[in-house]
Amino acid sequence: MAIASEHKKNDRYLRHLHEPSWQELLADSVTTTTALSRYLDIDRRETDAVIRRYPMRINPYYLSLIGSKGGPLWLQAVPDIREIQADPFSEDPQQESGHSPVPHLVHRYPDRALFIVSNRCALHCRHCFRKRMVGQPGIVTPETRDQGLDYIRKTPHVREVILSGGDPLLLEGHQLDDLLRSLRAIRHVEIIRIHSRVPCTLPQRITPAFAALLKRYHPLYLNTQFNHPDEITPQAAAACALLTDAGIPLGCQTVLLKGVNDAVETMQCLLGALLKIRVKPYYLHHTDPVKGTAHLRTTVACGLAIMQAMRSRISGLAIPQYVIDLPGGGGKILVPPTGVPGYE
Ligand SMILES: *Cc1c(COP(=O)(O)O)cnc(C)c1O
Ligand code: SF4
Repeated sequence: MAIASEHKKNDRYLRHLHEPSWQELLADSVTTTTALSRYLDIDRRETDAVIRRYPMRINPYYLSLIGSKGGPLWLQAVPDIREIQADPFSEDPQQESGHSPVPHLVHRYPDRALFIVSNRCALHCRHCFRKRMVGQPGIVTPETRDQGLDYIRKTPHVREVILSGGDPLLLEGHQLDDLLRSLRAIRHVEIIRIHSRVPCTLPQRITPAFAALLKRYHPLYLNTQFNHPDEITPQAAAACALLTDAGIPLGCQTVLLKGVNDAVETMQCLLGALLKIRVKPYYLHHTDPVKGTAHLRTTVACGLAIMQAMRSRISGLAIPQYVIDLPGGGGKILVPPTGVPGYE
């Protein structure tokens, strides 16, 4: 016994001697109520009930940033009983599955295909608009990836492929390398775009070797998602610098969330901080009406007021487009100053 525990202690000591890899961080994620209750003051019964429906994953990096109970990072990461209370929303308001010619490839705009290549994430965001699939086993497989590639090969008007998920950057390097190489072998695919929250939620994933891998597949763009200034840490800044220095333009698709960034000062601070790490604010998304996220939604009037205030407060470079994704697969539209019918 004594030897075993001694060994364990050494093991833990050794782990601290080297920086943990992103795979180690991911493997150390908190996914159970018992583990979470060691770090945060939570209601165990409620948490259990929520994660039976929507799994939890909080990796040690993001866990270390969380801060106060009910605060902006807590709200994004910690399961909340309100997720499983009745709301009028649906699992898939954008009817992505209805616009999928093959599983997990959403083809809504003729020139762009949104290709879901992973359903793992470094953090299971509580506000996720693909809550229905994130972290559920067996949804995205090598077979669905092959079917998607075949569809893109046979569809010459697809000029841009958006790799999405889940998080495409949670694929192993060689898997992503194979995928990018297959896409680049298709003559009509001009632009590759990656949608990934990893620069924010697990920046350790972006290593110099990984940036060098991506650099071989230009023109390649990457859009990420930062929602609060506390997420812009030295580690996140370093990850973004590696990508930008590899010639990859970075954009940010922030989600407007109640209690997270629905105040003028917070948004101003976030957008300014993004510009400093060379991430261009691209969209501010009005929260989609997805089941289990009602408590994080705010009004269109609030979003419009924030956008109005930004005009005079920050550089035009830092101003995103405020968009709403119309339910039923109508696509994204700019929120007009008069608001959107059917939305408060
Ligand atoms: C958002 C989205 C895109 C990309 O839209 P952009 O306005 O080009 O960023 C493409 N396909 C689908 C299905 C989308 O939802
Ligand atoms: S990283 Fe994106 S896909 Fe994954 S849980 Fe968060 S919002 Fe959803």
